Amino acid sequence: MQIKCTQCGADVTVQQDATFIDCPYCGSALFLDKKKVVFHYVINSNFKPNEAEGNLKRWMAGNHTVKDLDKKCTITKTDFYYFPVWYFKTKDASGDKISIQPAATTSVSEIKKIPIPAGSLKFYEKELYNDDQMVKPDVLYDSAKTWLQSSGVDPNNIAEAALVHVPFYQFYYTYNNQTFTAIVEASSGQVYANIYPAKSEAPFRIVFTLSIVAFIVTTILCFVAAYLATGRGESPFIWGEVFKVVAYGLVSVPLIIIAYMIAKKV
Ligand SMILES: [Zn+2]
Repeated sequence: MQIKCTQCGADVTVQQDATFIDCPYCGSALFLDKKKVVFHYVINSNFKPNEAEGNLKRWMAGNHTVKDLDKKCTITKTDFYYFPVWYFKTKDASGDKISIQPAATTSVSEIKKIPIPAGSLKFYEKELYNDDQMVKPDVLYDSAKTWLQSSGVDPNNIAEAALVHVPFYQFYYTYNNQTFTAIVEASSGQVYANIYPAKSEAPFRIVFTLSIVAFIVTTILCFVAAYLATGRGESPFIWGEVFKVVAYGLVSVPLIIIAYMIAKKV
């Protein structure tokens, strides 16, 4: 089978089942899809396993996850691999735009958000990487292009497409007898996770409902008190409003304390 090198345009003869190839004329690393020949890049890892775990723990200690997840979870397994993504550069009136689509099956859809600076792209060199760590692409160029189109990008504007292997640490951890997974992208250290033990919003909703009930009851009590104190006429309404100002202030205090305590716990 003959293909055309994306870089130098030379006709290169390849074996039928070949996917990763080096152009014998210019040395470019190429990836061969069923129909498409594209550059094959890799991004280097800048994080050691313990450093990646440090980033994960900081993310766990942050605001999205349940309180003290970093201390209460148990990391059960860590994998390191290079995950393939389709890299599209599109040009239109507004300028250049980079879009990413996963090139292999993944449950982490956040992968599309991974920033890939052009300067970080290195030609893939077989000798430098452990083949076992290279996840093989199983999403063809055409499928990725269709996804791209459905996310609002005009495929006619594609100026460049490439296959990029991105370094990932995948962590498996357990929390409350459930297993979760999170990815640390090893060039930037950014954490990606779709499902994780999130902060529960239920206690806050209960406090909110409680507040509404408390203020309604307080309002009724104020007017009843004003009526009992002043009798019929215009004045119960005026005094009721005055009582309300004071009573609302008093009711707010325990509610604020409860909300604060919940915020500290969950
Ligand atoms: Zn070439």
